[in-house]
Amino acid sequence: MEHDQGGTSLVPAGRLTAVAAAVGTAGLDALLLTPGPDLRYVSGYDAHQLERLTCLAVPAAGEPFLVVPRLELPAAQVSPAGGLGLEIVPWDETDDPYALVSGRLGDVASVGLSDRMWALMVLRFRAAMPRTRQELASAALRDLRAVKSPAEVAALLAAGEAIDRVHAQVPAWLRPGRTEAQVAADIAEAIVAEGHASADFTIVASGPNAASPHHTAADRVLRRGDAVVVDIGGTMPSGYCSDCTRTYAIGEPPPEFAAYYAVLQAAQAAACAAVRPGIAAEAVDAAAREPIAAAGYGEYFVHRTGHGIGLETHEDPYIVSGNTEPLRPGNAFSVEPGIYPGPHGARIEDIVVCTQDGVRRLNNVTRDLVVVDG
Ligand code: ZN
Ligand code: ZN
Ligand code: ZN
Repeated sequence: MEHDQGGTSLVPAGRLTAVAAAVGTAGLDALLLTPGPDLRYVSGYDAHQLERLTCLAVPAAGEPFLVVPRLELPAAQVSPAGGLGLEIVPWDETDDPYALVSGRLGDVASVGLSDRMWALMVLRFRAAMPRTRQELASAALRDLRAVKSPAEVAALLAAGEAIDRVHAQVPAWLRPGRTEAQVAADIAEAIVAEGHASADFTIVASGPNAASPHHTAADRVLRRGDAVVVDIGGTMPSGYCSDCTRTYAIGEPPPEFAAYYAVLQAAQAAACAAVRPGIAAEAVDAAAREPIAAAGYGEYFVHRTGHGIGLETHEDPYIVSGNTEPLRPGNAFSVEPGIYPGPHGARIEDIVVCTQDGVRRLNNVTRDLVVVDG
């Protein structure tokens, strides 16, 4: 989170310059970033979303500035943004911060608004700058954010190791008679205990619920013979996210389950092995889909193979049919095929990084089916 001169930190010196250049390349005059992942990526400032406007303006040409409510000024100054040499402009309760931003920017033809900006702020900026075209900041930030620096890869690896440590504990919590919700509560506690700042999701999908890819943990009681899909993740203090799925069996699973679990494991390995610079994102999806279809389970693989991950759990690049963009070293994303024929299902998910010559997996807890003693 700290900035430094050597470029080894998550917000290296030079990021603002690189972002300003990307703003120009995207054909925009400025970015306006309110609290969220875009602001954190550009400045390191992990500010809260509030109704009072906090906004980093990054013009393509000219000096960036950070507008903050006066009561947030001390927090902004001690944040990494305070070390970037930015002008920080406080506004008082009776000021109009939208007019303040607009006045400082001058007459600009277009602005890129952070993708997660509240509509409240989008519309107030529109009113303050009625002749300015509004676009998404991702037009400028997408390519930068999708290619992780070595420091970002290290942060994602730390997240991966932390969630792997949680998965290593899951078998002990999967006991017949317990509910999905009880297991999810154990998992949420462990996600934080293993180093995350927050537990973001705890999918525990047992028995027939395992056939629903985004089932949330509920009151169903675990039974012998259940397959249990456990898809969990959190956000580290660095801001970087984890996301890992393993499927467990309580006692012996149904024979047909064991058959397609082996297909799934091979498909997930094939998709990971396909990752290298220059290969199209959709080719990784195809590498997962083909062996599953060949084994007759194609209709039960009902979602894309993966999503990018970084300061958000789901971000570019998406590993999906139709995405022809070539992968680049530094792209980080999930590889998570699933087979959901009902009345059970399975998914295996790792976060991987495209390297200079191949792939690196950031999750390494076993992908073999873990059969816990029922
Ligand atoms: Zn998902
Ligand atoms: Zn997941
Ligand atoms: Zn995922």
